[in-house]
Amino acid sequence: MNDRASVESYDYIVVGAGSAGAAVANRLSADARHRVLLLEAGPAGHPWSRIPIGYARLLTNPAVNWLYSGEPEPSTNGRRIPVPRGRLLGGSSALNGLAFVRGQAQDFDSWAQMGNSGWSYADVLPLFKRMERYEGDGDDAFRGRNGPLRVTDPDWHDPFFATVIEAAGQVGIAHNPDYNGARQDGIAMSQATIASRQRMSTARCYLDPVRRRRNLRIETGAMTEGLVLDGKRCVGVRYVAAAGPREARAGGDVIVCAGSINSPQLLELSGIGQPDRLQALGIAVRHALPGVGENLRDHYAPRTRWAVGAKGFTFNDRGRGLGLVRQALRYVLQGDGLLAMVGAPIRAFVRSREGLAAPDLLLGWVPMLTEPSPRGPRIARQSGFTCYAHPMRPESRGHVHIVTADPRRPPAIRFNFLSAPIDAELTVRALRIARSIMNAPAMKRLQLTELAPGPDRSTDEQIVDWVKKAAETTYHPVGTCKMGGDAMAVVDARLRVHGIDGLRVADASIMPTLTSGNTNAPTIMIGEKAADMVLADARG
Ligand SMILES: Cc1cc2nc3c(=O)[nH]c(=O)nc-3n(C[C@H](O)[C@H](O)[C@H](O)COP(=O)(O)OP(=O)(O)OC[C@H]3O[C@@H](n4cnc5c(N)ncnc54)[C@H](O)[C@@H]3O)c2cc1C
Repeated sequence: MNDRASVESYDYIVVGAGSAGAAVANRLSADARHRVLLLEAGPAGHPWSRIPIGYARLLTNPAVNWLYSGEPEPSTNGRRIPVPRGRLLGGSSALNGLAFVRGQAQDFDSWAQMGNSGWSYADVLPLFKRMERYEGDGDDAFRGRNGPLRVTDPDWHDPFFATVIEAAGQVGIAHNPDYNGARQDGIAMSQATIASRQRMSTARCYLDPVRRRRNLRIETGAMTEGLVLDGKRCVGVRYVAAAGPREARAGGDVIVCAGSINSPQLLELSGIGQPDRLQALGIAVRHALPGVGENLRDHYAPRTRWAVGAKGFTFNDRGRGLGLVRQALRYVLQGDGLLAMVGAPIRAFVRSREGLAAPDLLLGWVPMLTEPSPRGPRIARQSGFTCYAHPMRPESRGHVHIVTADPRRPPAIRFNFLSAPIDAELTVRALRIARSIMNAPAMKRLQLTELAPGPDRSTDEQIVDWVKKAAETTYHPVGTCKMGGDAMAVVDARLRVHGIDGLRVADASIMPTLTSGNTNAPTIMIGEKAADMVLADARG
């Protein structure tokens, strides 16, 4: 495939093999005439990535995780909160919490209403269906059965989950068997990118089946350090692989799929961004684009903690010592239990007030208390659980920017959580709803004690104060290469970087707003749609 020893040439170059990039590379290389290079900075995989609960071991593992952190800021009470990001084939889909949530029809309709034609729910629903092989029940009008990504319903008859679902029902939150179907409202077991006991990352579902394609070269350990620009056209990339520095040229598009932190980083390193900022770092400005790195949004999610007095309900009782051995056996024999667990196995999509067209809050339960350890969170001795609660479409916006011209140095991430007053208001509302569920009659059988924020924190001010001291995100940064037509947009509705030919961004960074829920599913959809648009535009 190399035309020359030092400069390789391809039709398409995809930077980053994560949720979106793996999908893009798969679809572009389906036509054997297209020579596709997929560059991934991290390694091919990690043994813990295959086992669902293995994410706990990868959260702090520098071999497969970029391990970014946020800048200290008032909304975190001066803390640097963790910003884990996958750094291996599959990207963050290879170490995420495995919950499969598309979001609401309104999310995509609002993108279309902002002027992004082709992104309404009616437009993207066929892509959501095409990408999945959903193995649960559900309405075929909404669900796909033949796509690459295996999605399952966890088959759990567990007293903890049954109790929470019953308690939610008692405060008016009904069970919804398919929140990825016609309606999102209600409480449900989390659908999962888990099948046959194993994590279904995009590496597993989009790359493994096509590794033999001779027109697709997947290069791991290959860090892209800059885009090669010829005037206002991107013609290739510079990257560093095990064998040393390399350059690859693309006859067609370069598609940047490096994620919400690294995609704006790569644009800025290449001279595309805010001129003052780039000049201050000694980077020649190739194209002024003020929105690069702006519009960062994430779910700031305080975790309430509850002690459980009754025995046998949580994995603190059932997942330590001999219990852990039993869970391991159960995993091997039945494929379920602790080792096959989604990060938050139950979730509720609820409305903060009457009259809303759709839910605006998300609550999620984790059936154990954990404590930090050098190898990641471990199961605590005390029996209990956590319940996080947050607004799904926060309006606070931060930014991600490089602080040096060195591609190996992490960018500065500033979230500005709660800077929009509505976010603080809705966070308090979400936490009050969590408390109301925990106080419902069915929960009495668990014999609960509220550990955090604790019953003494009852006013809005006390709760917000605790949120600032305790909250972390649910790891959903988006928006830093926003799609749109306004002055702060980075890509247009076809994901082409404004003002630069031959360059697209396709990953979570293009989302103008956060989707209502977790971000893996919509990001894979973005990858699917990007590939369609690249191919359609090449046909002319
Ligand atoms: C710990 C954690 C838990 C999560 N839990 C869930 C969940 O339960 N459900 C859910 O839906 N979402 C979850 N998410 C979020 C979801 O996984 C991400 O939104 C999604 O994977 C982002 O996809 P992406 O394609 O934008 O980026 P990524 O999947 O992060 O992919 C970017 C890829 O580009 C590579 N890369 C970056 N820079 C370069 C470079 N310069 N050169 C070469 N390669 C580069 C990276 O190594 C990475 O592989 C979680 C995320 C994390 C981190």
